[in-house]
Amino acid sequence: MVSVVRDISHVCGHQDSIRIAENSHEKVEKYALWLASKICKECYKLEGRETLNLAAEKLVGIPLPTLRGTDKQIGYATANLSYSAVGL
Ligand SMILES: [Zn+2]
Repeated sequence: MVSVVRDISHVCGHQDSIRIAENSHEKVEKYALWLASKICKECYKLEGRETLNLAAEKLVGIPLPTLRGTDKQIGYATANLSYSAVGL
């Protein structure tokens, strides 16, 4: 597959070089503009961590039963509890 690398300036102020599968020139430009309207991957990850930390703070003090299951199941359940605690 042919692709092009574009330098994207995100709305958060960060820049990324992103490889985009080459379609028509118009589609690549539209996708590059869409990417520029979004925050970068690092800010996205940071925002997610902050949301989880906020959710964890809200869960402190709430008596919940001990979760049982595999690490994967507990991780999934914990993430869902965290998100529901902040109304997401
Ligand atoms: Zn950023």
